[in-house]
Amino acid sequence: MALIIDTFPCLNDNFGYLLHDEQTGATAALDAPEDGPTREALKRRGWTLTDIFVTHHHADHTDGILPLKADFDIKVTGPKGEADKIKGLDELVGEGDTVSLGDTTLVVIETPGHTLGHICYFDAAGENLFSADALFSIGCGRMFEGTPGPMWEGLKKLRALPDGTTVHCGHEYTAANIRFAVSIDGQNPALQARAANVERLLAAGKPTVPFNLGEDKMANPFLRADDPALAAGMGLSGADPADVFAAIRKAKDNF
Ligand code: ZN
Ligand code: FE
Repeated sequence: MALIIDTFPCLNDNFGYLLHDEQTGATAALDAPEDGPTREALKRRGWTLTDIFVTHHHADHTDGILPLKADFDIKVTGPKGEADKIKGLDELVGEGDTVSLGDTTLVVIETPGHTLGHICYFDAAGENLFSADALFSIGCGRMFEGTPGPMWEGLKKLRALPDGTTVHCGHEYTAANIRFAVSIDGQNPALQARAANVERLLAAGKPTVPFNLGEDKMANPFLRADDPALAAGMGLSGADPADVFAAIRKAKDNF
């Protein structure tokens, strides 16, 4: 009854994901960065694609949709806020909607900011979060379209998920994210521990994704914009957390 997740590299630093509902055999691609590696992963597993769940309109998450749709009888589900920007969508979803993959149910969480309509998918039963470019390990996506207030509110919704949640994000950016985080929050023991752990993983040639949400809540500065110590470190004691978040985001952009 569980969800089996296959992770594979795509493009330069994207992660591709296949979600397989063990009970029914239903299989979804979580975003479609590239159709070739997705087909190879399907072949390697012996699974047949039934769905694509799209998080946002960027090409490195959508370019594989039409080629896969041409060859598989699939349903493509994506963010209603970006319906006009994504080709091949069959079903539109927004905040609180549920998406079925066989016997597995995923809940849609709107996380505007990286793009205005960006959504994440949460498998509550298995505590798996598919965060694409909203939340990275020790980081978050660049704010290409949104504004800090709603982006911070979106990240708070992700932060409210259980500590045991496993986060599957869109890119391998952890090393660079840690370099920045240490520059503004270097005294944070949770961040130091995480940095050491990530260094070990990378030295062994292993991916740093997926990662544990509970650990990220303590180490990721973008999830800690309302922590007085971090605000003080940014010279923003007493400021609105959304403003602290904006300052952290800006500092990372210029890092
Ligand atoms: Zn993106
Ligand atoms: Fe991306």
